[in-house]
Amino acid sequence: MQISDTQLKQVDTQVKRLLQSDNFYGKRLKEAGISGVSSVEDFLALPFSEKEDLRHAYPLGLAAVPEDQIVRIHSSSGTTGTPVIVPYTQKDVDDWAIQFARCYEMAGVTPQDRVQITPGYGLWTAGIGFQAGCERLGAMAIPMGPGNTEKQLQFMVDMKSTVFCATASYALLIAEEVERRGLRDKICLRKLITGSERAGEKIRKRICDALGVEYYDIYGLTEVYGPGIGISCEHGHGMHVWSDYVYLEIIDPKTGEVLPDGEWGEIVLTTLVKEGAPLIRFRTHDLSRIIPGECACGHNEHPRIDTITGRSDDMMKIHGVNVFPAQIEEVLATFPELSSEYQIRLSHLDGRDWMRIYVETNGSVDWADMSKAVARRVKHKIGFTPLVKIVELGMLPRSEKKTKRVFDERYD
Ligand code: ZN
Repeated sequence: MQISDTQLKQVDTQVKRLLQSDNFYGKRLKEAGISGVSSVEDFLALPFSEKEDLRHAYPLGLAAVPEDQIVRIHSSSGTTGTPVIVPYTQKDVDDWAIQFARCYEMAGVTPQDRVQITPGYGLWTAGIGFQAGCERLGAMAIPMGPGNTEKQLQFMVDMKSTVFCATASYALLIAEEVERRGLRDKICLRKLITGSERAGEKIRKRICDALGVEYYDIYGLTEVYGPGIGISCEHGHGMHVWSDYVYLEIIDPKTGEVLPDGEWGEIVLTTLVKEGAPLIRFRTHDLSRIIPGECACGHNEHPRIDTITGRSDDMMKIHGVNVFPAQIEEVLATFPELSSEYQIRLSHLDGRDWMRIYVETNGSVDWADMSKAVARRVKHKIGFTPLVKIVELGMLPRSEKKTKRVFDERYD
């Protein structure tokens, strides 16, 4: 979706605010020779920014307003390195709550609802975002925070929670407990709002069936307010992103080229009215696409992004086709004869890149047939033919933490 005149003016104001504040980001824009934005071309000439850059602004170098106007900070998680500190003004905090309340409304949550919030509170933007939006809407917040399943279930029953906010993994765990304990008739849930994690159709259906809820995906990241800058609507085809707060682009993660609607790539976000720490063309590394066409809900001023399929760092290019592990995983999941384990190995041979996929099955199927069937389905669904190797059940390595499943041996 091309940037509108209003959005261009907003970006111009953001850029000028940054230049004037002469903060970390303003200096970078100045170095890049940017003085303002008055056309689409100007916008496209703005340099991208990355989380890695923002770390250099630690601790408060991202602030674009005098310190007395900062009412709160949040910090983005990261397992390694210096954290990114994001300062918020009162307006930013309010704007975020407005967006989040809009998300609840989009999901059909009303002031009559009771919202059980399990994401964490603190430096993290998650919990407090769910809370502020809920209060703004006028629903009742039940600020549980994460963990303590015993108490979660007790409150879910006794407080008659109608909306449950959680990661997909935690929702699944709760769903299984509700089933195991036969609590289905004692709970009053009708909506599930989940984010920060990709969940396949199988898992979603399992959760919805067990809890009797409608499933909504919320989108956001700490650097850009937090969760709540977009949510899926009742039609479930992608998440609407609030175009009066954020401008959305999809780029080719390798070349930085802006991609047309419908094509998969990396989400890039520009804040339009943020004061504390405006971000211009921020590379999220989240992979998705803009869903072309109209949504039946009618909120077409807010473009839709598809379910996040992974991180751009995971992208592979095979025979000219961009491929993500999640896509391979999806195809493999359609074969009941295969285990959930797999391994992808990339190699460079005879001037071409090749993908070998190792999958596990037991002895009861014909391995040669199986291998061909998987290769055919990958070709059909994704557009290139991999080499598929079948191995015995249990042969691929397991790990209690995150199992490494992709090995790139092309440039070893
Ligand atoms: Zn919609």
